[in-house]
Amino acid sequence: MPATSLGSDTVRDSDRVTDPARLEPSIVTTSVRPASDDAAVPASHVAPVIRLDGVSFYYGAFRAVKDITIHVPTHRITALIGPSGCGKSTLLRTINRMNDLIPNTRVEGTLRFHDEDLYASYVDPVEVRRRIGMVFQKPNPFPKSIYDNVAFGPRLTGFKGDLDGLVESSLQKAALWKDVKDKLKQSGLSLSGGQQQRLCIARAIATEPEVILMDEPCSALDPRATLQIEELMAQLKENYTIIIVTHNMQQAARASDRTVFMNMADDQAGYVVEQDDTITIFTNPTNQMTEDYVSGRFG
Ligand code: ADP
Repeated sequence: MPATSLGSDTVRDSDRVTDPARLEPSIVTTSVRPASDDAAVPASHVAPVIRLDGVSFYYGAFRAVKDITIHVPTHRITALIGPSGCGKSTLLRTINRMNDLIPNTRVEGTLRFHDEDLYASYVDPVEVRRRIGMVFQKPNPFPKSIYDNVAFGPRLTGFKGDLDGLVESSLQKAALWKDVKDKLKQSGLSLSGGQQQRLCIARAIATEPEVILMDEPCSALDPRATLQIEELMAQLKENYTIIIVTHNMQQAARASDRTVFMNMADDQAGYVVEQDDTITIFTNPTNQMTEDYVSGRFG
């Protein structure tokens, strides 16, 4: 197993993020990462960083999603769309093992991050969540200072480097530094909704993830703050892979490179109807159901 794997048995808590070599993905090859000037390459031509193959997820006996096969392109934004209850959030949470925290649940199929099985017995779910960060629907800063919110994850994982520098660069990347640089000791809760969500993005970035999962990150925000988050996502994808769940068709069409349309089958399990480059899904979908959904005829 590579030294930088997700396994808990090779990475001690104390040295998890102090050695920069450990921050490198375990099995990254140059062919997987598009060059930064490759932004014009359609998502369907970009190698995946995450691969779900035949994934089903159960809450007790209830199968919430079934037979999901999605290959998530590196350094692109993938949108998960579909009617409420079709399992978008559930699927998102399987990717960084957040669902592990819900008792009596079960995953079938394979989920790979680079070439590692995310659910292999040696894999440490805490390390998975560091490498695959998450931003939630409602901005949820901790009742702590702006600085301590961003420093929270690195402190937890025993970061021994320049914490001030890491906090600043994370806030810079989240397009929040200019707004907060003179009030880092102020509570994160004192910020506006849009700023709070950018603080949550900075908090996710501070653990140096490769992938950021976003579960309807703009649903509690006004249109201006929503656009700011979308602009931020466009910047972030140069360095991160983003998967976003959104109910907002315009947002999926504007902000994403690839779109996965899910619906609910007769047995109530969510499944993938169609997935393709976003432009294709919105202008020339193959499936009539997709066309009906993106044109607002149902859902
Ligand atoms: P979406 O994000 O598309 O609205 P969800 O993933 O939230 O869909 O929900 C998919 C299905 O799983 C729904 O039937 C929902 O009731 C069920 N579900 C979601 N969370 C839980 C949970 N913690 N326990 C049991 N069932 C759940």
